[in-house]
Amino acid sequence: MMLLKYPEMLTKLSFRVIFIILTTGTLFFLQLPNARAQSAKKLKTIIVDPGHGGTADGTVGQYKGSLKSKEKDIVLGISLKLVAILQREMPDVKTIPTRTNDTTMSVKEKAKFANDHNGDLFVCIHADAVPLKTASKIVGYRNKVTYHTKYVGKGANKKKVVTKQVKKVPIKEYYKLPTDRKGTSTLILVARQTEDKVKAMENAEMEFITEEGDSSIQVNYDSPEWKASALLYSQKYFRRSYLLANLVQEEIAKTGRPNLGVWQRAEGLWVLHATQMPAILIETGFVQNYDDERYLNSENGQQEIAEAIAKAIIKYRDQIEGSDKTASNVTPQK
Ligand SMILES: [Zn+2]
Repeated sequence: MMLLKYPEMLTKLSFRVIFIILTTGTLFFLQLPNARAQSAKKLKTIIVDPGHGGTADGTVGQYKGSLKSKEKDIVLGISLKLVAILQREMPDVKTIPTRTNDTTMSVKEKAKFANDHNGDLFVCIHADAVPLKTASKIVGYRNKVTYHTKYVGKGANKKKVVTKQVKKVPIKEYYKLPTDRKGTSTLILVARQTEDKVKAMENAEMEFITEEGDSSIQVNYDSPEWKASALLYSQKYFRRSYLLANLVQEEIAKTGRPNLGVWQRAEGLWVLHATQMPAILIETGFVQNYDDERYLNSENGQQEIAEAIAKAIIKYRDQIEGSDKTASNVTPQK
């Protein structure tokens, strides 16, 4: 396999994919390319997906002093503002949110929703989660009683002497420390072939959208089936997803927020992969960061992020509906 030239590799891969499709019924996530080829010029329908919802809170503020805010509420607020801006600024484009209230929707349902509505673009809004360090402080003391036994004397005079000792021991309260990490990043799904072009987020502690608790989605990310279908997805939608991801980060940077860049990941972004359209996932900020949590929960913060994303989408529309040359200018360089 390694020694094959590229076209042969591709042929092998195609056979492999066809073989997999014919032999298994498990590729529910692989919808075969439909009539809407990516080369279609017009951006007609945008699906905006506020992450999580209903019984799925997403990440919840848990550091000491946190607002205890929930990701599902933050991203709904941002998404509704984004939808309103897009509907106002691009009246000829249909902008459809996957949810407009606190409803439970699995990622599988969201992907189906996007495909059923013939989306040309899928924009997922999320907020980052990070594992937090635990600290402790002394909030009081309690008495700890211990008994010490010793024997004095010898032979028949040997006596057992028990002494009681009372020691003060501290009572500790444990709590979580907020993270220092703040800022916005955008994720796209990239399979092996193109992954060297985008920073790979292999060891980062960021959240990915695997939607624990949704047992309907069991993907073995090491399986050849997954890799093959991820590769097909990348070949079809990488350029546009990457274009929009960069535009979003540019607009975010203009607001003064830390621009954490565009990242790729093959694992965990099931929902991007399952949508047959260019797709990005924006990690708007860190719920576990003191400043970011307040920013993400503020009207101004939500509006600022929504406007930045909307400007990026409008530029994206202009670029894909303009000449292809414009779009290819932003193809990443090694
Ligand atoms: Zn999330």
